[in-house]
Amino acid sequence: MTAAIYPGSFDPLTNGHLSIIQRGLKMFDKVIVAIAYNPQKATSLFTADERKKLILEAVADPRVEVDAFHGLLVEYARRRSVNVILRGLRAVSDFEYEFQMANMNRTLNSQVETVFMMTGEDYFFISSKLVREVASLGGSVKGFVPPNVLAKLQEKFGSAVGQ
Ligand code: ADP
Repeated sequence: MTAAIYPGSFDPLTNGHLSIIQRGLKMFDKVIVAIAYNPQKATSLFTADERKKLILEAVADPRVEVDAFHGLLVEYARRRSVNVILRGLRAVSDFEYEFQMANMNRTLNSQVETVFMMTGEDYFFISSKLVREVASLGGSVKGFVPPNVLAKLQEKFGSAVGQ
């Protein structure tokens, strides 16, 4: 069975993430969505548990596991015995950071390979950061996130977020 780890902060899950997960399932038998979190940092919008629940609900596919980790991704990959890391690429601006990370991870663990998928044209401008910013200012993020995430953002920031 081939499995890939799809790591990120997913704070919150967006339709861009969902597209990468669904397309990843065409290449891998299993996708482990791994929420990177820092237990010392309290600046996130949703807790790791909340993010996990939102991803599980939105994906609803037995081939997708949702887990959380902190520390080095390559160590997590080693613990899980998975050698493939799945990442999404949006604009050119993602490239430099992703290129550095992929090379660093391969240096830290030569077994690990990173696979990139290009985002779909409808999603290339969507980021969790932008969703957080727009929602916190009361703007609508409808169409950028799955319905369950939209409902949770409405609870936090008011109904305008979903209109
Ligand atoms: P963000 O950058 O939105 O805060 P994460 O840090 O959780 O999200 O990103 C996890 C992975 O998902 C990264 O590889 C990132 O490039 C990818 N990703 C995020 N948003 C999108 C999108 N809209 N389309 C494709 N890939 C995306």
